[in-house]
Amino acid sequence: MKKIIVAIDGFSSSGKSTMARALASTLGYRYIDSGAMYRAVTLYALEHNMIDGDGNVNADKLTEALPAITVDFAVQPDGTQHTLLNGRDVEKEIRNMDVSSHVSDVSAIVPVRKKLVQLQQDMGKEKGIVMDGRDIGTTVFPDAELKIYVNASAETRAERRYNELRAKGQDVSLEEVLENVRHRDYIDTTRAESPLRRADDAIDIDNSDMTLEQQNDWLAGQVRKVISKL
Ligand code: C5P
Repeated sequence: MKKIIVAIDGFSSSGKSTMARALASTLGYRYIDSGAMYRAVTLYALEHNMIDGDGNVNADKLTEALPAITVDFAVQPDGTQHTLLNGRDVEKEIRNMDVSSHVSDVSAIVPVRKKLVQLQQDMGKEKGIVMDGRDIGTTVFPDAELKIYVNASAETRAERRYNELRAKGQDVSLEEVLENVRHRDYIDTTRAESPLRRADDAIDIDNSDMTLEQQNDWLAGQVRKVISKL
């Protein structure tokens, strides 16, 4: 069967990663969490003191360091993938609030985007990939055979993220998480380079009131439709 590229874009905590991961596993495709790559670079910037107390990122220093930064994924025995920063497994650290608070600022830096977009395009060369992010259908894979745009209200998304973080034992308040979600929405939609934007040929889904099973069925149906027309 012909392999395609599935691009899934949407706001933070819209549940797109869960949808994308499940779809990749159903299709036997590779799943790439592009947000994890921006998070890994943000962790690097934090660890190398490139972000000051006010949250300002030293873009020049980070740009200079880019050739020394590698971001990759390692498939685990249970089939999940862990993000590697210069070969180190950082899967857990990149999900913390510190990284979440700065990742939108780091990902607005043009050379950072250029580097990661190139890496992402290389990963899609053979097709058979499901990638989720903000600019996958518009910039990374403008010719993707299937583009999905996921939406849900900021409140619904904050509640999901809050529950995830609490389940992992992180001490955060719902207000703090909602504030972070709104802040990231703002930066992600207003930045100059590759802002979050629905591709003109994307198919919309608002999953606020959908179960995971309903989302999976809906997505699998969209894929079947596309593949049957190839
Ligand atoms: O998907 P996730 O919420 O983990 O992404 C973290 C951040 O990375 C986003 O808020 C956004 O600023 C950035 N990002 C991006 N482009 C992508 C994926 C993520 O700018 N393709």
